[in-house]
Amino acid sequence: MQDVPLTVTRLLVHGTLVHGRSRITTWTGEDEPQVRTFAETGARAVRLANALRDELGVRDDDRVATLMWNNAEHVEAYFAIPSMGAVLHTLNLRLPAAQLTWIVNHAADRVIIVNGSLLPLLAPLLPDLTTVEHVVVSGPGDRSALDGSAVRVHDYEELIADRPTTYDWPELDERRAAAMCYTSGTTGDPKGVVFSHRSIYLHSLQANATESMGLTDRDTSLVVVPQFHVNAWGLPHASFMTGINLLMPDRFLQPVPLAEMIERVRPTHAAAVPTIWQGLLAELTARPRDISSLAQVTIGGSACPPSMMEDFDKLGVRVCHAWGMTETSPLGTVARPPAHAIGTDEEFAYRITQGRFPAGVEARLTGPGGERLPWDGESAGELEVRGPWIAGAYYNGPDAEPLRPADKFSEDGWLKTGDVGTISADGYLTLTDRAKDVIKSGGEWISSVDLENALMAHPDVAEAAVVAVPDEKWGERPLATVVLREGATADFASLRAFLADEGGVAKWQLPERWTIVTAVPKTSVGKFDKKVLRRQYAAGDLDVTRL
Ligand code: AMP
Repeated sequence: MQDVPLTVTRLLVHGTLVHGRSRITTWTGEDEPQVRTFAETGARAVRLANALRDELGVRDDDRVATLMWNNAEHVEAYFAIPSMGAVLHTLNLRLPAAQLTWIVNHAADRVIIVNGSLLPLLAPLLPDLTTVEHVVVSGPGDRSALDGSAVRVHDYEELIADRPTTYDWPELDERRAAAMCYTSGTTGDPKGVVFSHRSIYLHSLQANATESMGLTDRDTSLVVVPQFHVNAWGLPHASFMTGINLLMPDRFLQPVPLAEMIERVRPTHAAAVPTIWQGLLAELTARPRDISSLAQVTIGGSACPPSMMEDFDKLGVRVCHAWGMTETSPLGTVARPPAHAIGTDEEFAYRITQGRFPAGVEARLTGPGGERLPWDGESAGELEVRGPWIAGAYYNGPDAEPLRPADKFSEDGWLKTGDVGTISADGYLTLTDRAKDVIKSGGEWISSVDLENALMAHPDVAEAAVVAVPDEKWGERPLATVVLREGATADFASLRAFLADEGGVAKWQLPERWTIVTAVPKTSVGKFDKKVLRRQYAAGDLDVTRL
C-alpha cells in the first residue's frame, strides 16, 4: 500500500474542497451571527499561513499560540498553523496569570493570536513573555492596552488581507508536532501534551465513527467545550473530515445566550462538560425554549450525573457520556450501549458508564500492588491506556529530553491515567474516582463520585461535591458540600436519609460532615476543584455541621 502521511493539511484541503458548503456559525451577541463556509474558512487559512510566513517570519516548528474563544478565526488558526509545519499552541484563557506566563515561556511561543476581548488578560503579561515577538489581534476590543509594548502588534483582518490565495503546503512527516496544549496542572507545573499530525488524523476518524460522535454534514454541532481544552474534543478537525457544520459560541457561554443560540441556529449536537449543562438545564426549566433540534449531547470531562441524563431524556435529548483526558486527545471511551442492551433495563446502566473502549485505545487496570486486575466489572484499579492518539511523554522544550514521570507512565510506556475504576468483561469503563480523590475510610474505599451522583439526584440539590477529610478514627471520611436550589427546604438529615433510602449508599459510607456552599469551586476547565475544598476545610473556612 502507499505510504501517505496522515496530516492536518489533508483535512484542510479535503474540508475546503469536498465540504466547501458546510458552515461555521459564530455567535456575535448581535442580531445576526457571523456565518462562513468551509470554503471561505479554508481560503482564509491559506492567507493566514502566507501572512504568518511572509510578514511574521514563522518558520519550521515555531510555536504560534492562540488566546481565543471558539470562533471561525480560531478554526482558521487550527488548520493554517499545523499545515505550514508550525505548531498551534492553544492557551487556556481561564488560567491564573502566573501559570499562563509560565506556559507561554515554556513552549517558547513566538506569536500569539488573541481575541480583542481578551487583551486585558494578555497585555499585563507581555513584559514577562520572553519569547513572544508578535501579537495578532482578532475582533473587537480596546487595543490601547498594547501601547508601549515591545511586541509588534497586527490586526488579524489587515494581516491576512491581500495575501496570496494559494500556499504550497509542505509534505510533512506525519509524526511531526501539529498542536499542543498544557494540562491544567493541579499539582506542580502544568504539563505540555503535543499532538502529532498522525494522532490528530486518526483521532478524527475515531471521533467521526458511528460508535463515537457519529456526526455528518447533515449535523450542526454546538461546540461549547473550549478550543483550548484538548482541541475542543477534536470537533474542528473531525468537522473538516466529514463536513459537520459548527456553531461556535465565542464568548457567550452563559445559559441564556446558549439557550438562545440553540433555539435560533438549531444544532443537532452539542458538546460540553456537566457544569455547563447544569446551568443550561436550570435556565430551560425556568424559561422553556424550543431545543427540539438537539438530538444528541456529548458530555464528558467529569462524570455526568445519572440524574442529568434523566433530565435530558425528559427533554427528548439523548446524552452520550464519554471519558477522556488531555493526554488521550481526548476521546478514550464513549458510552454507546451494546445492541443486546438496547430497549432493555440494562440500557441505562450502560449509558451511565464512562463508555466502551474503541479498538484504538488499549486498556488495563493496575491494583495497588502493581498487579493486573481482571475485566470483571468489580475489581477496581488505576486505569492505564495506550494507543496511537495517547501521549507517550510530556513536552520538555526543544533541547531537553521529553518527560516521562514514573507516576504518569509505566515502565513499558503505558499512560497512567490517575483514574480509578472497573472495566466490564465487554470493555465498558466505570470510573469511581480520581486516584487522589478516593476516600480511604478504615481501609475501605468510598467513591466520592457515587456520593455526588446520589446527592445530585435529590430535587433540592443543584450541585454536590464530596471530598476526603482527615478523621481520627477512620483515617478519612467524606465531607459533603452541597449547593441547594433556590427555595429548597431539604436539611442535612433528610439528605443523608435520601442517600441511604433512594441512593442505595451503604450505611458506613454515609457522610456525617455536611456543609452548604453557594457554588462548588471550579478548575479552569469547569471541573469541581476538590483541592480548593480540602484547603478551605483545613483552614476552617467552611461552616461544617456534624450529624
Ligand atoms: P483533562 O485533561 O483536563 O481533560 O482532565 C482529564 C480527567 O477528567 C480524567 O483523567 C478524568 O479524571 C476526568 N474525566 C474526564 N471525563 C470524565 C468522565 N466522563 N467521567 C469522570 N471523569 C472524567
